[in-house]
Amino acid sequence: MFADLIPQLKGKMPDLRGRLLANQPLAELTWFRVGGAAQLLFMPEDESDLAYFLAHLSRDIPVTVIGLGSNLIVRDAGVPGVVIRLGRGFNAVEIEPDARLRAGAAMPDVKVARAAQEAAIAGLAFYRGIPGAVGGALRMNGGAYGRETKDVLVEARGVDRTGALRSFTNLDMGFSYRHCGVADDVVFTQALFQGEPGDPQKIAAEMEAITEAREATQPVKSRTGGSTFKNPPGAKAWQLIDAAGCRGLKHGDAQVSELHCNFLINLGTASAADIESLGETVRARVKDTSGVELEWEIKRIGVAKSA
Ligand SMILES: Cc1cc2nc3c(=O)[nH]c(=O)nc-3n(C[C@H](O)[C@H](O)[C@H](O)COP(=O)(O)OP(=O)(O)OC[C@H]3O[C@@H](n4cnc5c(N)ncnc54)[C@H](O)[C@@H]3O)c2cc1C
Repeated sequence: MFADLIPQLKGKMPDLRGRLLANQPLAELTWFRVGGAAQLLFMPEDESDLAYFLAHLSRDIPVTVIGLGSNLIVRDAGVPGVVIRLGRGFNAVEIEPDARLRAGAAMPDVKVARAAQEAAIAGLAFYRGIPGAVGGALRMNGGAYGRETKDVLVEARGVDRTGALRSFTNLDMGFSYRHCGVADDVVFTQALFQGEPGDPQKIAAEMEAITEAREATQPVKSRTGGSTFKNPPGAKAWQLIDAAGCRGLKHGDAQVSELHCNFLINLGTASAADIESLGETVRARVKDTSGVELEWEIKRIGVAKSA
């Protein structure tokens, strides 16, 4: 159990409107369903509430933001400090002129794809296959089927650790493969996407094809974090993992997926440590067999349990 920060914070933030929960378990908020609690979970009411909170929070309290937890391992002893999760106040989607769509950072990518399709905006259908929300797509430069967030983003908004509202052009985002160069302390709140005029029926068919391809090739109904490692330049992580003999490899209840061996899955009772150490075993074996050092794509947050 972490010390309860709520009494200390409430005194400093009389006008706070969002929810504060002390020692809040995070496992259920992630796809892997593992890990400990947040010392404090904060769910801001809206962007100004988030800015107020960050402006009044002592600088020595660490802040971590999570989205839909589809690219995340929360370690077993939990996350010290504040974990921020955006909810209803960040869920709006608006269609703008010239085939543009503005979405709040808590809006699931799948709903962004659907809203674009209904508004006859092509170019955003790839989001149909990414099970995160817009904030995670911005931070990860999420992408699939040859397109990524970098290709469709006009600008993003966010709040930094001092509580200042910031806006970022596509260039400011410093995007590269599954990476965004904006300082880690920025909590994204909104994104403006650029599509192109399209035919809703064709877009719907594209989204349907994406859904079918996903279900055939990825363990999308499992407790997983998606691709575990980034593809190294000129190679596919899954092929290196397969060649290293790791398909199906188990550590406790954590397993390298038989279906897609760059996915790790929790068969039921795995701990975060089981999953992370399985990932490290895979990295070591790939290094031995191919000389390539795989880089984690999945973000790991919090602290491990001491032995
Ligand atoms: C079955 C499956 C399939 C997947 N397929 C793909 C795929 O095809 N392509 C792909 O790119 N990814 C894929 N992923 C990975 C994942 O869905 C993406 O990385 C997604 O963008 C993560 O979004 P999230 O909301 O779940 O973020 P989380 O997993 O909660 O967090 C991921 C990172 O984003 C940061 N973050 C989240 N919200 C914010 C915010 N508001 N402001 C600032 N930082 C924030 C977190 O701090 C963390 O560093 C897949 C995952 C699964 C489980």
